[in-house]
Amino acid sequence: MEKFKPTKNLITNILWFLVIFLIISAIFSLLNPINYQQTQVSLDELVEKIKTEQVKQIIIKDNKITATLKDNSQIFTFKEPTISFIQLLDNFGVEPEQINKFSLTIKNTESQSFWLYFLIFGILPFIFIFILFWLFSKRIRGTGMEIFKFGESRAREIRPEKIHPRILFKDVANLKEAKEELTEIVEFLKNPKKFIKLGAKIPKGVLLTGPPGCGKTLLARATAGEASVPFFHISGSEFVEMFVGVGASRVRSLFAKAKKNLPAIIFIDELDAVGRTRGAGLGGSHDEREQTLNQILVELDGFEPNIGLIVLAATNRPDILDPALLRPGRFDRKIVLDLPDINGREQILKIHSKDKPLEKNVSLRDIAERTPGFSGADLANLMNEAAIKAAKANKKQISQQDILDSIEKVILGPERKSYLISEEEKKIIAFHEAGHAIVSHNLPHCDPVRKISIIARGQAAGYTLKMPEKDKYLHSRQEILDNIASLLGGYASEKTFLKDVTTGAANDLKQATELAKKFVCQYGMSEKIGPRTFGKTQELIFLGKEITEEKDYSPETARLIDNEINKIINDNFKRAQEILKKNKKAVKEITKQLLKKETLERSEFLEILQKIKNNDKTNS
Ligand code: ADP
Ligand code: MG
Ligand code: ZN
Repeated sequence: MEKFKPTKNLITNILWFLVIFLIISAIFSLLNPINYQQTQVSLDELVEKIKTEQVKQIIIKDNKITATLKDNSQIFTFKEPTISFIQLLDNFGVEPEQINKFSLTIKNTESQSFWLYFLIFGILPFIFIFILFWLFSKRIRGTGMEIFKFGESRAREIRPEKIHPRILFKDVANLKEAKEELTEIVEFLKNPKKFIKLGAKIPKGVLLTGPPGCGKTLLARATAGEASVPFFHISGSEFVEMFVGVGASRVRSLFAKAKKNLPAIIFIDELDAVGRTRGAGLGGSHDEREQTLNQILVELDGFEPNIGLIVLAATNRPDILDPALLRPGRFDRKIVLDLPDINGREQILKIHSKDKPLEKNVSLRDIAERTPGFSGADLANLMNEAAIKAAKANKKQISQQDILDSIEKVILGPERKSYLISEEEKKIIAFHEAGHAIVSHNLPHCDPVRKISIIARGQAAGYTLKMPEKDKYLHSRQEILDNIASLLGGYASEKTFLKDVTTGAANDLKQATELAKKFVCQYGMSEKIGPRTFGKTQELIFLGKEITEEKDYSPETARLIDNEINKIINDNFKRAQEILKKNKKAVKEITKQLLKKETLERSEFLEILQKIKNNDKTNS
């Protein structure tokens, strides 16, 4: 979107008014020429000059007679409107030969002024209005409501020479397979003959899929940068407008534009916004989307392969795309991007710390180890937050600690230190978090506790940060059960030590219940019910959320499932409670330290536990 620049707009406005003012004053001066060198004389004097042959030229305009003398000075006088100039001279007794001595011009002021008046009153207002509209529409475009050209494509064309700095594959870390696939496309755009000669067909459409922030948009830009061809970029969400039919005509003009600039790349970002399965929406809005989608299909079919036009598209929801989009000859090549693994994360961190001065002892490998599950965008954000943190402290370089501290900010949002809580509430939160931490620590399949804090962050009043040691792609049955127990640890701790529970556990309970439900209905991990799935969730398109659930099982099974979920929750709640009862001392000590320090790092946490153990040994 265009950036709104108030000062620049003001200057152009003032310039425009100046130009208009100058034009108007020029026209008026044409109408009423004021010549200060002219002197008014009487008719007699003029006749006298004619008779003595001093006059070179006479111009008559209406009743004004302007004479240029032989010495180039000008005089003027007026006649009566009813009498012609020749008649007048005759009356004054001027001889016809003397009339022939000067040139006589009679200006038809009627028609001349008609044109001038027409110009001023007929055309100028329109020009004025047009200019006003133009300025107005420029403004409006700045705010994103392009109502004056709604049929046109709003795609941004990026010419290769204009990209500064040009993004290349080397700016995209990791994603090796994806880059290899796209290199092929780049080769083709650079040297199509090589492929056509061998009868190779290059795909028209390539679909990039992957979780948000994994680099889809970045990779598409890099492809354009490598191929150095014009790049037309439009986002699916921009198609969805208030006027029906706009989306379709945008698609049409987008493809028309690209075809004029071959070879070219069209990039449709967030394809799922228009490319969802047709006929599944509610309300009127899906009509517009269907038209847009149909137009995309028409355009994809409408050009020959191998003409040098490649359509790239990106989505993080390939599962909900209309099957028609994925038919051969359309987006027939799919490139799946994954979240980065530890090596990928290290590379991405390296790229995003290129222009940031780091202290010598900063280990990006260490940071990569601590950020499993982070996307490329998260990591870019992390380095940026670390830089901001260092700058705020007036440091010249970013330290390891700055980066580590920023991890939580990226995960949970900024700390809310100003969030005032009473001592009583602080105690509840401390017991709650200590409960999570101790239960997690005592279960073999839970991720290690990295940090415990009772400082509010984002939505949470306090938090216990757990992080796996390695990247994980699969989760075992026992791991899920342990996680349910650990989620219930906060609730169990409040109940055990404070004899009451608060609303603070609501989110934990929700997560635990959802996990238990998946355990039974999706993962087939319940021994009683067995390996099958239950329930088909159907998407309601316009919200993009799973709302309706189709029950594909009998009411009896429903009761079984309910019972099983209840049992899982209760069993694990009991497990959590038992762990807490066995470790009363530890919970109390952690709570005490939390109230004192507010935040405990892993090392401090382990130290406290070790001390308690040692004490117990010496006591017994
Ligand atoms: P999406 O997949 O949602 O389109 P983007 O391409 O917009 O993600 O990525 C957002 C940002 O994250 C990029 O601008 C870039 O800074 C960073 N990023 C993501 N993946 C990578 C990567 N593989 N290498 C370098 N930076 C990355
Ligand atoms: Mg994107
Ligand atoms: Zn909790």
